[in-house]
Amino acid sequence: RDTYIEQQFGRLNEMQRRAVFTTEGPLLILAGAGSGKTTVLVNRIANLIRFGSAHGSRETPREVTAEDVRALRAAVDNKTQAPAWLEGMLSRSPVRSWNIMAITFTNKAAGELRSRLCGMLGEEAGQEVFASTFHSACVRFLRRYAEELGWPRSFTIYDTDDAQRVMKNVYKELNVDDKFLPVKSALNQLGRWKDQLVSPAEAAQANAGSTKGALAARIYAQYEKKLKDAGAFDFDDLIYQTVILLREHPEVRQYYQERYRYLLVDEYQDTSVAQFQLVSLLTGPEQNICVVGDDDQSIYRFRGATIENILNFEKYYPRARTIRLEQNYRSTSNILNAANCVICHNTERKGKELWTNNGEGEKVHVYRAENESDEAMHIADVIGQHLRAGGHLSDHAILYRMNAQSAPIENYFTRAGIPHKIVGGQRFNDRKEVKDIHSYMSIVANPQDDVRLRRIINEPARKIGATTIETIAELAAQEGVSMLHIISRADQYARLSRAVMPLLSFYQMYQKLCDALETSPLDLFASQLIELTGYKRMLEQQAAQGHEDAEDRLQNLGQLVNNVKNYCDQKGVDATLEGYLEEIALISDIDSYNEDSDQVVLMTIHSAKGLEFPYVFLVGMEEGVFPSEMSKYSEADLEEERRLAYVGITRAKKELYLSNSVSRMLYGQTRRNEPSRFLREIEPEYLEESCSPALERASRMGGWRQDYSDTVPGGASGYSGPSGWGRTAASGGFGAGYSRAAYLNREYNAGEQRPASRGFGAGYAA
Ligand code: ATP
Ligand code: MG
Repeated sequence: RDTYIEQQFGRLNEMQRRAVFTTEGPLLILAGAGSGKTTVLVNRIANLIRFGSAHGSRETPREVTAEDVRALRAAVDNKTQAPAWLEGMLSRSPVRSWNIMAITFTNKAAGELRSRLCGMLGEEAGQEVFASTFHSACVRFLRRYAEELGWPRSFTIYDTDDAQRVMKNVYKELNVDDKFLPVKSALNQLGRWKDQLVSPAEAAQANAGSTKGALAARIYAQYEKKLKDAGAFDFDDLIYQTVILLREHPEVRQYYQERYRYLLVDEYQDTSVAQFQLVSLLTGPEQNICVVGDDDQSIYRFRGATIENILNFEKYYPRARTIRLEQNYRSTSNILNAANCVICHNTERKGKELWTNNGEGEKVHVYRAENESDEAMHIADVIGQHLRAGGHLSDHAILYRMNAQSAPIENYFTRAGIPHKIVGGQRFNDRKEVKDIHSYMSIVANPQDDVRLRRIINEPARKIGATTIETIAELAAQEGVSMLHIISRADQYARLSRAVMPLLSFYQMYQKLCDALETSPLDLFASQLIELTGYKRMLEQQAAQGHEDAEDRLQNLGQLVNNVKNYCDQKGVDATLEGYLEEIALISDIDSYNEDSDQVVLMTIHSAKGLEFPYVFLVGMEEGVFPSEMSKYSEADLEEERRLAYVGITRAKKELYLSNSVSRMLYGQTRRNEPSRFLREIEPEYLEESCSPALERASRMGGWRQDYSDTVPGGASGYSGPSGWGRTAASGGFGAGYSRAAYLNREYNAGEQRPASRGFGAGYAA
């Protein structure tokens, strides 16, 4: 094991080693993509656990060589004389794995951290490190201390769908018109407030002057009250409320500060104000906080992430040391140069240049397609070539700006029989029948959960109508109890007299569920629940009546029971209903991505953060798609899009394919978009360009405009006159500093010996 650790340490470059061996005090590792930040984080934890910390030593160790590491190891093991600088480090206090907490952004990343640590330190020590996402960490804290805040420990976690349901009730109660303030905007506003740690009272005060703002603040207060009554947290609350918990309960804060003496945060550039507060509250007086990040990869501003957290780290922690890593180990120099070209157009950055020893590699391929299926076909062709040369499907990733872009590629791949996997899209746990069954489970775990109760009280149909449900809600509000409590005594209310029978039998069923949970293992409970609730019978009847998807839905419920079983197998005696529900609440899109299977993977650039693939296709490199239409009006938004482009480009190890299309159908509309400005920002010397055969033929015939509609399948649809690509070229809309002629040459000279006077040039002159 030590040999392995040694090997790993030995592989590090000087700056990386320095970061690994700087164990005390605040440390900022600021570095570009693929420079080994995550690698350093893992090695740093391994060093802390294996060799302890240089407690009290303020000295940054000089350059640490592989030999030093061997000396250190020998000195620790044999208590022999070590080099002078090591002496300081030898008055080391051991760091226990449970004293370390590492936070990342996805469960997948956390899992990977854990597995790499297990590889270096052995299963036991590796598992003891608390490697977690922000949300899971908060859930863990809240499970212990929720009662301090007035929530039950068995709280429910609401997803967006639940939140919308709560919101609709709030709108009804406060008599708010959805047209005046759409539910979605209100939810977004609430999310922003929570990200910025603004309480309902503060929101009201700050927005007293604006009608809409004041209304949103009232909605906020009512929404929070409803969540609390239901014993639930939404996703933003998990962090917001944990901050409140730590801020207002010094004993809790102190407990965690002592427990987690070493904090490490990956992808720090994407933390929000609330997450930053959380991290600082957890940081004890020793300030052993190490954050790693890249200001150029900050891509969650729309969700409240603030780049200031990274830009101001040195201000918050005056003792902070900053280490920059500049060597990229992931990509070829052509790919890296392309990434540098794009990102240097941003003004709001700390500025850093990456270099690599990996060699030039192939140029970045740029392909201009005629439409989105041509784009998909081209990608399939390239992948086919790689496979014939012995490559693997899973070495290929197709990345896009928006989920909606996956459909044409998915369709083409399905028809062509190319195994692929989409990360995102509709998730298993978002299917109606799955959510319904999970809702039943939720009310068993947490009887206060009125929102989930409403979801299933009449599903399957039990003759409990909307009016009855509203009456129950009113009674519950009057008495300050849960809806279920009212239902259990339905016979005592005159207003419920017409629905007494169905309500009482619902409650009986509920009690049976609780009994089943008491007496059966969890997976058996799940299958009993599906029967006891009548859900299975309902679907079977529907299937018998020829409802098309009833069969599928039954299968999904079978899968759900399997999932519960898997969960039980994993957790053994620790399996609980709350634990299972928590796990599904915290699963995010990216987690469903399994590297082991040999499939092409499709995902948004956002989901690809931190990952790497030998071959990357970035599709839809068009104005209005990427950068998105919305972002074009603000410089700050454009810079965020550019950082996203940088993230996308730097995922590639060996080859990068950028493609765009003359026409594209998106959201049911066919549009013609210019090539993305990000393509133009890349120096031509790093690119190799080509286009679809039809576009090429058209241009060779001297004026593809006339011929375009004949040669392009479906091209007749709406290509009329000088629009789209042609028009912009003609109107010289390529922006400052870029000559049209050069662009045209770049577009068509690549790999072709076609004089510009023929081909596209001629067409353009016409
Ligand atoms: P990102 O910004 O995308 O999150 P990162 O900075 O976290 O990237 P890593 O994922 O840690 O970078 O490393 C990128 C690749 O370089 C990985 O494949 C890693 O194994 C490799 N790598 C890192 N450091 C070294 C090194 N010193 N020698 C060889 N390979 C290295
Ligand atoms: Mg990383």
